[in-house]
Amino acid sequence: MTTRIDQFSSPAAAGGGSGTDKVNVWIVGDDDEVIVIDPGTDTAGVLDVVGDREVLAVICTHGHADHVAAAIELAERDEAPVALHPRDRMLWREAHPGDAADIEMEDGGTFEVADVSLEVIHAPGHTDGSVCLYCEELGVVFTGHVLLDGGPVRHDDEFPDFAGQLTAIGEHLLTLPSDTRVLPGHGPATTIAATEKKFDSWVSAGPVVSSSSSPGD
Ligand SMILES: [Zn+2]
Ligand SMILES: [Zn+2]
Repeated sequence: MTTRIDQFSSPAAAGGGSGTDKVNVWIVGDDDEVIVIDPGTDTAGVLDVVGDREVLAVICTHGHADHVAAAIELAERDEAPVALHPRDRMLWREAHPGDAADIEMEDGGTFEVADVSLEVIHAPGHTDGSVCLYCEELGVVFTGHVLLDGGPVRHDDEFPDFAGQLTAIGEHLLTLPSDTRVLPGHGPATTIAATEKKFDSWVSAGPVVSSSSSPGD
């Protein structure tokens, strides 16, 4: 197994800004080729980590601007396709009014990179087109804004569809092997086992905004 995962912390807004709410950019690949998951806002920063490896695809876990702003510019260098779930097309257009994504992801689709594959899990709730990407060989799932260490992610201080988001977590993530590492769109990694322990408390807390809850955007 030569495939590895690199992480880059992108500013959540183009040009930096004062927020500490960095976006996790995940780069999966080997010495020759990579797939970038959620490019964030800083193309040059991501390309520093990618180096001279070929970018095979740029995958967006959902359409919110902090995650997709650099997608087109990053994909351009190697003429890589950008992948998005079609139900987030309207959100994507807010960040990229003039450009469409190249690949319409659907549940169960796969991407191959180095010697592993990434399986698309459609997990609507945070947005209609939110997806997670599961890599069985590496024992990881990339969860974007579906799930952070601190729980499901809000948008603009509210949950667009709290019940739907919890259902997606329960049906599509908690069913993965419990030692699967969760690599989220913000903040520290967690595991499916740790998520299982906290899940009921999120259900009973409901869609409240507490000062200790995870960052949204
Ligand atoms: Zn979001
Ligand atoms: Zn975000």
